[in-house]
Amino acid sequence: MKKSKVLEDLTNALSILPGVGIKTAQRMAYKLLRSNKDKTLNLSRQLQKALTEVVTCDRCGLYLDVHDAELQKKSNEHLCIGPNRDEGIICITESPADIYIIEESTNYNGDYFALTGTLSPLDGLGPDEIGVNKLKIRLEKENIKELILATSTTIEGEATAHFIQNICTNLNIKVSRIAFGIPLNGELGYLDSETISHAFNERKEL
Ligand SMILES: [Zn+2]
Repeated sequence: MKKSKVLEDLTNALSILPGVGIKTAQRMAYKLLRSNKDKTLNLSRQLQKALTEVVTCDRCGLYLDVHDAELQKKSNEHLCIGPNRDEGIICITESPADIYIIEESTNYNGDYFALTGTLSPLDGLGPDEIGVNKLKIRLEKENIKELILATSTTIEGEATAHFIQNICTNLNIKVSRIAFGIPLNGELGYLDSETISHAFNERKEL
């Protein structure tokens, strides 16, 4: 049977999407070929546009359109977070996506800094690769009074938090870690012992 090489290339390209295996990528490719051609071409244009016109903010690592990034450079204001925010507090996340989650779920009114991952020496990810050194420069230059560490509870997330905590201690900056433990409406019987132990140790006085 003669198969389309171009279709196979499209399938392989789609399989880089998170959670998409080769079978799903194949189904997606067939579906795209059968779909409205204008809509599919628009998808391809938007993808190309995003890759060329979206940049990350020099200050916090959030995604910005390239013209907003230029505007920010000229105005010397931090456009990402907007006015009336406490720029003396920085919340650290391991990705820009996590910033949006915190922003939507809390009434936090400080500044942010998104790393580009967590420390993982075996994968060649050191402080330079994930943006910690860039953060350090910001901490040394600006008048930061508090840092909130919101990296995940994986081994790498914890190691990254400890690493940044040490930098803050040396710079005399107050540092806190977001709390982890029992989810709201969660029953103890359904949780793993590590989560319960963590929640128990992090209990607070009422
Ligand atoms: Zn920013």
